[in-house]
Amino acid sequence: MTPQKITMGPDGLLKVPDFPIVPFIEGDGIGPDVWAASKMILDAAVEKTYGGTRKIEWKEILAGEKAYKQTGEWLPAETLDIAREYLVSIKGPLTTPVGGGIRSLNVALRQELDLYVCLRPVKWYKGVPSPVLRPENTNMVIFRENTEDIYAGIEWAAGTPEAKKLLDFLTNELGAGKKIRFPETSAFGIKPVSKEGSERLVRSALKYALERKLPSLTLVHKGNIMKFTEGAFKQWGYDVAEREFGDQVYTWGQWEKAKKTQGEEEANSRMKKAEAQGKLIVKDVIADNFLQQLLLAPQDYSVVATLNLNGDYISDAAAASVGGIGISPGANINYITGHAVFEATHGTAPRFANTNTMNPSSLLLSGVMMLEYMGWQEAADSIEKALAETIMRKRVTIDFYNLMNDATLLKTSEFAQEVVKALA
Ligand code: NAD
Repeated sequence: MTPQKITMGPDGLLKVPDFPIVPFIEGDGIGPDVWAASKMILDAAVEKTYGGTRKIEWKEILAGEKAYKQTGEWLPAETLDIAREYLVSIKGPLTTPVGGGIRSLNVALRQELDLYVCLRPVKWYKGVPSPVLRPENTNMVIFRENTEDIYAGIEWAAGTPEAKKLLDFLTNELGAGKKIRFPETSAFGIKPVSKEGSERLVRSALKYALERKLPSLTLVHKGNIMKFTEGAFKQWGYDVAEREFGDQVYTWGQWEKAKKTQGEEEANSRMKKAEAQGKLIVKDVIADNFLQQLLLAPQDYSVVATLNLNGDYISDAAAASVGGIGISPGANINYITGHAVFEATHGTAPRFANTNTMNPSSLLLSGVMMLEYMGWQEAADSIEKALAETIMRKRVTIDFYNLMNDATLLKTSEFAQEVVKALA
């Protein structure tokens, strides 16, 4: 069979051939070590699961230091073209170039491909050292909006002519000058949040939750303070849920309406009925409270949809509570075009480059997410199981070894071999 491209069908469903070509970026620093280990496990799992009837044909593309050394560019146009053409790719961590034209290679990739969802599953694997008492209570998937918000990069340094111009505009045209405490020395940042951007994010999260029959979707926002950006995100989220998925969801917005018109008892009984019918409950929580809830009652949350900055904080805090900063995976996805880049969530840890000591699980689990996205669920499940078993047997890399009693210390490549051995 000749290897083929993954494509997007006219029905909006991904078409994955049995021998798909998948571009990969090895990454900088510890990237080559963790990529070699992850690739070995991904290939072994696919081979074992499908007995040679399916196989990934890897295609290297360049970015970061390796690209700079070979081509003089940090992110060659060809890399973007290939990522665009082949839809699904995977990458190790990349150095953020200091100075130069690109703020961050990751941000450039996200913007170029309009990858509007940053997807971060957070769950605990038995045996992983965790700072909380019951890490098993956390099992959630975070949909972080990836293209808007204060992250859009529209900001001006204090004292620049642009900051002065904006201050004049705010003062003279919009009458908002008095709200700025120290006008002459203020820097400014703009926070764009759109209806389209919020709706497509929440819509993707709703579909994800409904397809997997998950109990709830929570809109996390700071709408009590930022009413027209974060508050609107919440409202647009509820609206899209009720308008497009009305018979499959019950929202807190509906509960509030019922409470006003029918009384609290009736509203509660409707909510209970919806839960009993297996409807998806759509609720909202203010971001600061949500950070408490992550520690106090994580079992109440399954899918979370949130804006860019909140999502950044929440993803890392949630990952830390399951001990998973070193092993938590991520993906950047555009569910409409099908474009997706799966990636390790940690950085390049340059001090440990080429030491063959770091934990490959973050990139590996990103690969597992990629297999799921491709519809190769059986291979994905087999890796997750083998990884969990290896950790449970305390055969681990240095990061976990340092936090466990009676563990066996393994090199990155040895750990990969253990996981391969554990594949069913
Ligand atoms: P980092 O994640 O690279 O490293 C911080 C520390 O975390 C390391 O010293 C190490 O102790 C630990 N660590 C990281 N990955 C690990 C692994 N797989 N196994 C075990 N321990 C691990 O963060 P940093 O030092 O802030 O950033 C270094 C470089 O990486 C910078 O250039 C930064 O811009 C870049 N970065 C890239 C990405 C990305 O490509 N997605 C993300 C974050 C940082």
